[in-house]
Amino acid sequence: MELQVFGVGSATPQRNRNPSAFLLSVDNEYVLIDCGEGTQFRFLEHKVKTSRIKTICISHLHGDHYFGLVGLLSTFSLHHRTEPLTLIGPEALLEIIHLQLFHSGSTLSFKLEFIATQNVHVSKIFENAALEIYTFPLIHRIPTTGFKLIQKASKRKIIKDILPVNFPIPYIKMLKEGKDVKDELTGEIFLNSTYTKEGNKAKVFSYCSDTAFNKDILPVIFESDLLYHEATFTDVDSKRAENTFHSTARQAALIAKEANVSKLLLGHFSSRYGNELTHLSEALEVFSNTLIAEQYILYTV
Ligand SMILES: [Zn+2]
Ligand SMILES: [Zn+2]
Repeated sequence: MELQVFGVGSATPQRNRNPSAFLLSVDNEYVLIDCGEGTQFRFLEHKVKTSRIKTICISHLHGDHYFGLVGLLSTFSLHHRTEPLTLIGPEALLEIIHLQLFHSGSTLSFKLEFIATQNVHVSKIFENAALEIYTFPLIHRIPTTGFKLIQKASKRKIIKDILPVNFPIPYIKMLKEGKDVKDELTGEIFLNSTYTKEGNKAKVFSYCSDTAFNKDILPVIFESDLLYHEATFTDVDSKRAENTFHSTARQAALIAKEANVSKLLLGHFSSRYGNELTHLSEALEVFSNTLIAEQYILYTV
């Protein structure tokens, strides 16, 4: 899995920071997580193949997390998209989309498969051959959910070099599934342990924006390979963080440390800070493998 960051700002527009949007690629398909205003323009600039977006997850209905969504859906229709799109988000989101489409006399050219999130307990909300998505409650001013996305472990990998030429495809399938193969004609046995090696391990990306400091999420995000956690404020504004149900960089690092994640990515920075140096230094005091999320950079999960 790879994560490309498209926005690290919060709330009001900022010259150098776009609102939240994160593109996770899983086996050539994209999951878009949050879709702040202008996200589709950033996609154009960075030549993102938006037809590859199969799933969109929206954390909550503050504008900096979804004001770009209806525009993106409209563009899909103008491009005559026919492939279904799965949209995961708060129940009212569907009402908002319908209202906007209705009053603009528009319809979607594709099927929108909507899955409503709830803000009460952890739940597995989506699964396909490659991916599982869980939602979990965050603590914010309006109902907000975090997402945990798991790229499933891959099947066993064939060691091609030692396999006979023209080895039958059904036999390859059996080997990938962990079975031994007996050739019906020759009786020769191909041991799975000889001809395959272990596939890729499952990978976990967890996404927490926006949220007050909340240790309840620790069991869900435990040992994630990559954790994105909002860090709207620094220590000097910790009271403001508490009042607005946001986190400081230090609190995000505490969550990362106690959840024993491999890597922490910070974002959702308030416009009151011209740079993120203080966020980084305060977080590093708690958790060493912390990075400031940079727009357009690809992070391997
Ligand atoms: Zn926000
Ligand atoms: Zn918010």
